[in-house]
Amino acid sequence: MHIWMIGSGYVGLTTGCMFAYLGHQVTLLDTDAEKIARLQAGEIPFHEKGLPEVFAAARKNMAFTCRWDDFSTGADVVMVAVGTPSRESGDVDLSYVHTVAREIGRRLIARHLPILLKSTVPIGTAKEVQAIIQQELDNREWPGSITVIANPEFLREGEALQDAFYPDRLIVGTDDGQCLSTVHQLYQPLLEQRFHPPAGVFRPVGYAAPALLVTNSATAEMIKYASNAFLAMKISFINEFANLADKVGADIIDVAKGIGLDKRIGPHFLQAGIGWGGSCFGKDTKAIVQLGKQHATPMQLIEATLAVNQQQRQKVLHLLMDELSDLHGRTIGILGLAFKPNTDDLRDAPALELIEQLAKYGARVKVFDPVAMETCQKLFPTLDVNYCDNVDALFDGTDAVILVTEWEQFRDLPFSRLGQYMTEKRVIDTRNFWDPARLRNAGFSYRGIGRGQLP
Ligand code: NAD
Repeated sequence: MHIWMIGSGYVGLTTGCMFAYLGHQVTLLDTDAEKIARLQAGEIPFHEKGLPEVFAAARKNMAFTCRWDDFSTGADVVMVAVGTPSRESGDVDLSYVHTVAREIGRRLIARHLPILLKSTVPIGTAKEVQAIIQQELDNREWPGSITVIANPEFLREGEALQDAFYPDRLIVGTDDGQCLSTVHQLYQPLLEQRFHPPAGVFRPVGYAAPALLVTNSATAEMIKYASNAFLAMKISFINEFANLADKVGADIIDVAKGIGLDKRIGPHFLQAGIGWGGSCFGKDTKAIVQLGKQHATPMQLIEATLAVNQQQRQKVLHLLMDELSDLHGRTIGILGLAFKPNTDDLRDAPALELIEQLAKYGARVKVFDPVAMETCQKLFPTLDVNYCDNVDALFDGTDAVILVTEWEQFRDLPFSRLGQYMTEKRVIDTRNFWDPARLRNAGFSYRGIGRGQLP
């Protein structure tokens, strides 16, 4: 099949590479000319584990353009993966999706075409996009038609390729039976799992095939929001218990293990820490709260989920103040900038908010991240931090080091040596990533989240 993928960001590029690897022809259209130029030159414009390898293998089936004038007639399917950021109010900014709808409507000359919305969009958007495109077709009296299908994406950054090749489920929201056969054809390689995975991507133990759930478009759109809201809620839930654990001498790691052994609860997304960040949870939870307000149906659990997450970010600062009392003139090292490991994505990254707060209290900030520093310098050129070349340089002369992103390469650091470089041997482990005993044996004052630190 020939797929036109509109938007080549984290979702568009990784899923585009996956479809091309599986043998489809994929044309990526993105209005960001620099991004397209880099792709044409064989470069990946952001960091995602395993993407360069899959891209190299799939590239022969891929084409790239930044010009809507190239939008072709030969497409079997169009997929839309442009951004849907939050507005200040928490409402979703659908301007990119609407622009894409108008561009498609103005150019389409096929008779009938399925358009899959992979972007996360408020409930009702697939119908709205359908109406916008149809209006454009009517304006130029083109007799063709389109069907807009809600087909939300569930991949996790940092594990995007693993999730693209081995998704838990495919959600297809449409009432149009005719289009369903095209969607089946599109996803056939995944549904039948007849492919050799690319290097670095592994078939999960016991994995058979993704579940395919066909619903109406509103249901599909709601599934995406409900999934993200539930995951965010699990994290806020365990963080709230972690804060209590600190007060009563319980260890949240064992609490999470104990409750996760209950099959009805499960072990995932119960890691206490600094709270969630990234481009999706914040904007999607805010969007569902707004939608509830519009329909006079308060989404109280989700409102609380957001509030707990915001407080959790402050908690790290309180822990630090508890240790150092006055931050003015102190030097604090931040280990990890990205909102999670294996990505350079800094959208709503907790580290950035922490850096801002530290600066407000007069602290000097040093940072090290294995891949996100270049992105940080580019996106936030005025950020007042000292970028370090390596972990040694980060520890050198600091009064405390705060681990914010749990990159695997930070796990077994030579703490005894690193401690010698510090003014005072203190770490705050906001991901409960390190073994407290090991740090304490190396002479550090160790603070985790919910590890039973009685006041
Ligand atoms: P992104 O910002 O990385 O990429 C979006 C791309 O769309 C950009 O490259 C941008 O230049 C391009 N674009 C904007 N307007 C365009 C236009 N008119 N024509 C062509 N291209 C245009 O965003 P992302 O992280 O890939 O997310 C895309 C969507 O997928 C969002 O709705 C997001 O909520 C959803 N989603 C994201 C993830 C994730 O982990 N990032 C996971 C699941 C779903």
